[in-house]
Amino acid sequence: MKKRIVTGDRSTGRLHLGHLVGTLQNRVRLQDEYECFFIIADIQVLTDHINSHEDIDANVFEVMCDYLGVGLKPENCFFVQSQVPELSELTTYFSFLVSLARVQRNPTVKNESEMYGVSQMSLGFVGYPVSQAADILAFKANLIPCGQDQLPHIEQTREIVRTFNNTFGKEVFTLPEALIGKVPVLQGLDGVQKMSKSLNNQINLAHTTDETLLRIGKMVTDVQRVYRKDPGHPDSCFTYKYWSIFAPDAMPHVRTECESATRGCKECKMELASYLNIQLGEIRERRARYASQPDLVWDILATGTRRARQVAEQTLVEVRDAMHLSFPRLAKAAERMVQNGSA
Ligand code: ATP
Ligand code: MG
Repeated sequence: MKKRIVTGDRSTGRLHLGHLVGTLQNRVRLQDEYECFFIIADIQVLTDHINSHEDIDANVFEVMCDYLGVGLKPENCFFVQSQVPELSELTTYFSFLVSLARVQRNPTVKNESEMYGVSQMSLGFVGYPVSQAADILAFKANLIPCGQDQLPHIEQTREIVRTFNNTFGKEVFTLPEALIGKVPVLQGLDGVQKMSKSLNNQINLAHTTDETLLRIGKMVTDVQRVYRKDPGHPDSCFTYKYWSIFAPDAMPHVRTECESATRGCKECKMELASYLNIQLGEIRERRARYASQPDLVWDILATGTRRARQVAEQTLVEVRDAMHLSFPRLAKAAERMVQNGSA
């Protein structure tokens, strides 16, 4: 049997370069080797978007187009979190295995509440890593391709595995491992925060070539270089970091021209944008093909969601059994009533 990958993204907007280098490239690379479950986490959007949730469902479609655009095959299992109610049931059970102090210590949750300006965190926000553990463990994941910000959540998930198995005396769950992408955290174009859908500091995979030029044009460069004739300092230039990630082969000539002031910051950024546009060209074309066939995209999601429910239900049968919450006699009584025509 193939080992399993489980990972996903929130439906807060279209996917961007951070997703590509943080997690999507690993998913594409490993999709044939593993059985893959890709969750679009719509419930998790409510953590910090409770008052601006109008696009949750529309964004599910956008994320699906991004997935298919980067080359994830339609045969994988793609599903919507809220449409697999077994996940909410498992979240409820897990919530009794984690102390309040433990969830309040999670550094990613603290960071996100500050980053997105949420002063009063809801119970759902503080506890979302527990819900995420349910998403992962319902499918008995072995590997989770993700960015670095997910590490505390995966540690939490591993703790839940140990606590569940010890408490209920059955090895229902196994320990999943994180797989961090080639860039653990891609900084956004502001050079300050991580690239994020919610902070508008991103290059979306689906941005047009012109939007990409415009956005890269606003990127921070070498703050020590005041005039075009001044020699630049690639090692402290934020734009140069992007060269190292997205066009490493071009680094030597970019460095030489920057240090000798034969290239200006503006032209440097325009050239970087052209490189990005070339790299993203194939993804954008494939994405557009899928986006023009919405029925096909929804069919892929419907098939995946049905399959996700079946797999999660199998796990829930084991979970309820281990917890003494399966009530076979109750099920038999219900069956009898149907047969007797009294139900
Ligand atoms: P939001 O702003 O809504 O939180 P996001 O851009 O942070 O969106 P998520 O859906 O929270 O995206 O993250 C999904 C996956 O993508 C996670 O594995 C996360 O680590 C990874 N990821 C997101 N942004 C980056 C980034 N800038 N660098 C590396 N990985 C990232
Ligand atoms: Mg996020």
